[in-house]
Amino acid sequence: MLLKVTPDFWQRFGILSTETDHELDEGGSLPLRSSGLIHEAVVPGGRPMPLLKILLTSRCLLNCGYCTFSSQVDRERFTLEPDQLAAGFMELVRRRRVRGIFLSSAVGCSPVTLMDRLLDTVTLIRHRYGFKGYIHLKLLPGAEADQIRQAVTLADRVSVNFETVSARHLERIAPAKRFTADLERVMRTAAAEAQSQGVHHKAASLTTQLVVGPAGETDRELLSFSTSLYRRFGLRRVYYSAFSPTHDNRLPQKEPTPKIRQNRLYQADFLLRDYGFSADELVFFGQDTLLTDLDPKLAWARANPQFYPIEVNRAELAQLLRVPGIGPSGARGILERRRKGRLARPSDLRGLGISLSKALPFLLLGGCRAAPPTQLPLPFGLPG
Ligand code: SF4
Repeated sequence: MLLKVTPDFWQRFGILSTETDHELDEGGSLPLRSSGLIHEAVVPGGRPMPLLKILLTSRCLLNCGYCTFSSQVDRERFTLEPDQLAAGFMELVRRRRVRGIFLSSAVGCSPVTLMDRLLDTVTLIRHRYGFKGYIHLKLLPGAEADQIRQAVTLADRVSVNFETVSARHLERIAPAKRFTADLERVMRTAAAEAQSQGVHHKAASLTTQLVVGPAGETDRELLSFSTSLYRRFGLRRVYYSAFSPTHDNRLPQKEPTPKIRQNRLYQADFLLRDYGFSADELVFFGQDTLLTDLDPKLAWARANPQFYPIEVNRAELAQLLRVPGIGPSGARGILERRRKGRLARPSDLRGLGISLSKALPFLLLGGCRAAPPTQLPLPFGLPG
């Protein structure tokens, strides 16, 4: 006779933590080390941090086709009580195993009831245990305004996962979720709350996640949508998750979305957020697809040879940000270095966090072409 053994508390705790790998959030484009309960993540400010990522429950009433917790998937489900989860997390903090938590949940009952349970958990962590460290809390689709207000007050970061770019696309992959009434409304309320709280103290930052592939959206649509989220809601980050079907996948897409597509979307997204590019400026193949064999900044540089070469000693910040190999800190480093004197040699650019091999073919130093340290072909056929 086979006996069914009920997992004890720490086993359920471990299962609900290790089952969160589909959640990207911190560390998304830079997958860091994960071992069992602990995820090495990058939190706001670029700090690495051991983080507990955990679900309150893996029971779900909804049927999102990309998700392994969909109600249509036959699997074992587990739930923790708010006081159990809070106590388990604080035990890991006490043992110095983690310094923060990303708390999420499947939707095993009414979203409002479940959101209350998530808030109860975070309230215990903050107020009963006095935890002052990093908390990222997922806002459930359908959360109410006062719950959102509480979440923004308690957490350092809150997220609403849009998953795709429009109601029409969402219908294909998550028919039970309402794009405007649930997701957009919750994000709009969170953004307004964060803005009003931010006047008095540091309010939670906002993020979202998009599942790339199964809804059939193009790269241009994804990046245009991200641009609108940054503009309308002041999002800190958009995370892109290449779809990876499991054995119980019920969506038409049967193959994983290539990781290179996810990586190019991240690179293009950086250009939108930190480099002053607009989605319309990016170079798309066949109008809507990012090139896979060229990073988006280099693709733009090759498509716009008239923009180069750029004189390092005169260029403005926005011009420097258009040079492959120069990021925001490198560009600011050049401006600072220029105050001390003229930059005349490639070695003057060392120590500024610039990729010289990528940048030099696009630069002039004191009116002379900057010779690349390695003999890279010039990108637009100019004589060297
Ligand atoms: S609501 Fe969340 S947990 Fe439930 S099926 Fe959809 S994505 Fe999965």
